[in-house]
Amino acid sequence: MNDKNQELREMLNLMPKMELGFLPTPIHHLKRLSEIMGVKIYMKRDDYAGIGQFGGNKVRKLNYLMADAVKNHADTVITYGASQSNHAMQTAQACNRMGIKPILYLVDLLEGEEEPKANMILNKILGAEIILEPALGDTFSEGLKRCRAKAKVKMNKLKEKGHHCYEIPMGGANAIGTMGFIEGFLEMKEQTEELEIHVEHIYHPSGSGGTLAGLAAGKKLTDSPVFIHGVGVGISHDRYDEEVSDLANEALKNLGSTLRVTPGDFQFHGEYGGEGYEMPTLEAEDAMRLLAQVEGIFLDPVYTAKAFSGMIDQIRSGVIKSGSTVLFWHTGGLQALFAEKEILGHLI
Ligand SMILES: *Cc1c(COP(=O)(O)O)cnc(C)c1O
Repeated sequence: MNDKNQELREMLNLMPKMELGFLPTPIHHLKRLSEIMGVKIYMKRDDYAGIGQFGGNKVRKLNYLMADAVKNHADTVITYGASQSNHAMQTAQACNRMGIKPILYLVDLLEGEEEPKANMILNKILGAEIILEPALGDTFSEGLKRCRAKAKVKMNKLKEKGHHCYEIPMGGANAIGTMGFIEGFLEMKEQTEELEIHVEHIYHPSGSGGTLAGLAAGKKLTDSPVFIHGVGVGISHDRYDEEVSDLANEALKNLGSTLRVTPGDFQFHGEYGGEGYEMPTLEAEDAMRLLAQVEGIFLDPVYTAKAFSGMIDQIRSGVIKSGSTVLFWHTGGLQALFAEKEILGHLI
């Protein structure tokens, strides 16, 4: 029994939490890819995290966020994202599971698209209330600002009618959601110790940064020597490392820990994101074909393929030494394989 693991498990048990998905998610060895790359590669399958078949990393955050919504007597949950947001779709699933009404404010980055695809189809089947905000050639963050202003008016109206609204930020990236990946780190650590896998590097796609923050905080809390690599997906950030650290530290405070994360506790690689969010890269497309053709496993073009291309590049270029043990955290999002052509690029 590892004392640090046990201690963290006990701290987490004090936090309000739902059990929305299927945890722990599996970890398995990618044997053929490992032979090709000359490093031991394992995969953590949060694409199997649930809630539904198109699962992903947001389920871990929603376990804590939805528990907080219930604590606040919410009958309505409002959240934000891009029109193909996995977070928004998974939030709608979580709401439906709990009998709470989901309202999604989505910035439409793909204007002029004729018919709904991928997550937009799923959102409609889920019966979520959807407010599509045209990007109007503006930046995503400008669109998001307009969404927030509209949501504020809506929330006031709902409040007047006696409703209780609970707001979840984009990506579920606040201190409460981040708790889900502190727990995720502990889950991975316990599993790999049990399986006697000595993971040296973890790679995952990083968007809002909540996943990276949680993993970094989990590393800190358990005093783990593993290197955490977040790979950017084309969202431009000014103070990304600081924001991720702040998020991790808020979560650590909520847990009652005096430990603090600094940008030195993780590595963020922004150079694999291409020209922007939801904009394909040739390297990500190659990564998708490679993994599918060697292991039969799919990646999504927006997140996991970009992260995988970054990991492959760092192995090939020798940044990751041959013989090392690497874990790729599959964060889901596979419904994007059926998204708009702009997102799929040259895959088809
Ligand atoms: C949201 C998302 C991420 C990024 O997670 P963050 O916590 O927002 O950084 C990665 N992969 C997929 C598939 C996602 O939906």
